Amino acid sequence: MLSDELFSNRIIALLDVINANGLGLWELTNETMELDKITAKMAGHTDAETLPFRKFLEQIHEEDRQEIKMAVEEMQKVPGRSSNAECRILNRKDGNYRWIRIMGKSYLNHGKKIILGTSQLIEGKALDLLNAAINDITKELSRKDELNQCIYEVTEMLLNADEVFFGTAFQNSLEIIAHAVGLVRVYVYKNHIVDGILCCTEIHEWTEDMNPTLGEDYTKDIPLHCWTGLEESLNEGKLYNRLFKDAPHSIQEMISQGVGAILFSPIFLKDMLWGFVGFERAEAELFNTDEESVLSSAGLLLANSLIRHDLNKNLIQAVDKINTTTIKAEVLEKFAYTDSLTGLFNRRHLMEMTQKALEKARESGTACFAMIMDLDFFKKVNDNYGHLAGDEVLKNTALVIKNALRASDLLGRYGGEEFVVVISDTEKANVLNLAERIRESIANSPCIYNCIKIPCTVSIGVASIFDDCTVESLIDRADKGLYMAKNSGRNRVVLFTD
Ligand code: GH3
Ligand code: MG
Ligand code: MG
Repeated sequence: MLSDELFSNRIIALLDVINANGLGLWELTNETMELDKITAKMAGHTDAETLPFRKFLEQIHEEDRQEIKMAVEEMQKVPGRSSNAECRILNRKDGNYRWIRIMGKSYLNHGKKIILGTSQLIEGKALDLLNAAINDITKELSRKDELNQCIYEVTEMLLNADEVFFGTAFQNSLEIIAHAVGLVRVYVYKNHIVDGILCCTEIHEWTEDMNPTLGEDYTKDIPLHCWTGLEESLNEGKLYNRLFKDAPHSIQEMISQGVGAILFSPIFLKDMLWGFVGFERAEAELFNTDEESVLSSAGLLLANSLIRHDLNKNLIQAVDKINTTTIKAEVLEKFAYTDSLTGLFNRRHLMEMTQKALEKARESGTACFAMIMDLDFFKKVNDNYGHLAGDEVLKNTALVIKNALRASDLLGRYGGEEFVVVISDTEKANVLNLAERIRESIANSPCIYNCIKIPCTVSIGVASIFDDCTVESLIDRADKGLYMAKNSGRNRVVLFTD
């Protein structure tokens, strides 16, 4: 038998162990509750405390209180009964609730009913709540990320699209935005004045089924004032964010059915309202601030690239009209002498440069040669792989030819799939060698488009300068060589001789 002293020493040691593990102890005798330091701390008391059970109950969260009360009553009724519950206890110090687990067991001591219990903080519970909160935030952030990502994609696509691909890139951009935000229709209206009234006309549209729902008649020359409040709102640079049912009647009449919410974003050019981009979704839910921000960025981006494209188009037309020698800016000059698809000299510039090369050769009495190359069965490439793939083949071919030449050689796109090379100051054997090398390189460098290899060959006609020859007659002779190359089976080089 342990002596009383030894027994109580062991109990004290045991309590130390228990406390070290964060377990608190409490005792409920009659209606009075004694909390040890640890339990008291959980409830935000400064030290071990004795308090009426009623007061303790008040600190238990409203939603958990009844359960704790009933468990205690049950234990009080039946000695030897134990109970176990999780509940939230108010920490008086910081005013926050903490999840704790309480366990108790009742017994009789000299006729008195006593409940002894332990209490412990539930770290896991707090963690679960924290994780749930983090999950919510992560979800919200990844939604934002997704929206931002769509802006990056669209920016990249529009910036990289050259004039030839602009239409496709623009249409794809509308689709990317529509899918990221969950839209059923995206469109662009451009403003213009008709009889002194500000009107707008639809110039681009994306819908899921690519089947525009507005008819031609409805989308042309619509006075902006038809839409009450729209012109004012856009002019102030504000987004027009409305539930479809709350939009002015005139707007509702214009827009197809199945639309729950609309957002118009203004486009400005030099402080003038150039037009606006419209976004529609099926759900009758206003666009939230994240969506507003992504759609107004998207609107700006689309607008900028449209305006830039318009300016470029005008620029190219203007450059064609104006005598290039009077234009100083290098960028304009570049537009005037390059072919937009391949970046090579265009036909006109090539002819001018060839004229100069001929004059120089004549003056110095040196040789000069022209090669004309035409892709073999190129129509089939377009037919089999599509026109865009055909364009890529042209670009690839241009690059292969360019890589084979010296900086002083002239290279230009002469026609659709025809290239001309002019080489000065060299011998016939070298030129034929070079032509052969180019032919072989093209045959060995298939264009890779959408992960598909598109093989291609070229036929080449070669001619050399002769007395009184002109640019036209030189190329004409090379062309005769090309004709012979085609007729004798293609993928070969033929030197034209009289
Ligand atoms: P051949 O071997 O006799 O030259 O056969 P081919 O199919 O190449 O015949 P042809 O020269 O008549 O056809 C040229 C084709 O090149 C027709 C035209 O559609 C295509 N083409 C011309 N310019 C372009 C262009 O800029 N891009 C694309 N993708 N195709 C072009
Ligand atoms: Mg041809
Ligand atoms: Mg051809």
